Amino acid sequence: MSELHKFLFDGLPVRGMIVRLTDAWREILSRRASNTATGAYPVPVTELLGEMTAAATLMQANIKFNGALILQIFGDGPLKVVVAEVKPDLSLRATAKVLGELDADAHLSDMVNANGKGRCAITLDPKDKLPGQQPYQGVVPLVDADGRKLERLSDVLQHYMLQSEQLDTTLVLAADDQVAAGLLIQRLPVKGEANLEGTGASRDPISVDQIGHNEDYNRIAILAASLTREELLTLDVETILRRLFWEEKLLRFEPQTGMLGPHFACTCGRDRVAQMIRGLGQEEAESILVERGDIEVGCDFCGKQYRFDAVDTAQIFTAPGDQLPASPVMQ
Ligand SMILES: [Zn+2]
Repeated sequence: MSELHKFLFDGLPVRGMIVRLTDAWREILSRRASNTATGAYPVPVTELLGEMTAAATLMQANIKFNGALILQIFGDGPLKVVVAEVKPDLSLRATAKVLGELDADAHLSDMVNANGKGRCAITLDPKDKLPGQQPYQGVVPLVDADGRKLERLSDVLQHYMLQSEQLDTTLVLAADDQVAAGLLIQRLPVKGEANLEGTGASRDPISVDQIGHNEDYNRIAILAASLTREELLTLDVETILRRLFWEEKLLRFEPQTGMLGPHFACTCGRDRVAQMIRGLGQEEAESILVERGDIEVGCDFCGKQYRFDAVDTAQIFTAPGDQLPASPVMQ
């Protein structure tokens, strides 16, 4: 079963998390494989999408936010879009759109950053939006500060966390066709509003708590970074934590599994598809009906097919509440 483990390093400003997606990840892959229009993902796409799904789960579990966290790569290459979405209840879904040919050993930049224009976006979409409220989105390029192409998703996300959250973060990610897993180690903010110490409690300008200058964090981060892909994919969480941190004092939280842990779920539905068809406009919808007899829309995340015939489509455009409000002049 898929699982999420959170832990603290006792007395140190460092926290960590491990996610292992097994059943949830295989569900995503098997739904894709059984989609006759697309077939299974190529191996390098499976690996990237799995890493994104594991990373998005860690990032969602790491924030207090009532809404979906959506991790996306807008590709500049044969892989056009890669998306992983995780809700606060750790329900998750993911998909990728592959348009071109991919080598079996394609690297990140071959897939999504061929000309250096690939982007990674992290979106926080509030569950109960206020009128006019926009989702928060942070976007980072897939290159380092010197413009060199990054070849690991973990490097892209570490860079993002440092830039946007000002938090030292170490990520180790790995995925194959059975497991998508990740380890996150993060230095807790010792100062600032997010901390008990509050604002203005300490005004010492020379502090050991600067980014990259906390010895405890640095030691733990080096240990974490020594975890290999093979170990992360094959070892159970207990073994990983013991091997990496046997000299540290860990405070463990109850592991989250089953419906309390990471699990696959898709939020698509007939109503949303109807909304999308309404967005096309009546003329466009009717021209599709003339051409094909039905409007058929498949969900990219779960593979479910939605069919609207002429009667269904007519209903979409005459549904009560959807008509244009009467003009004030006419009343
Ligand atoms: Zn769906």
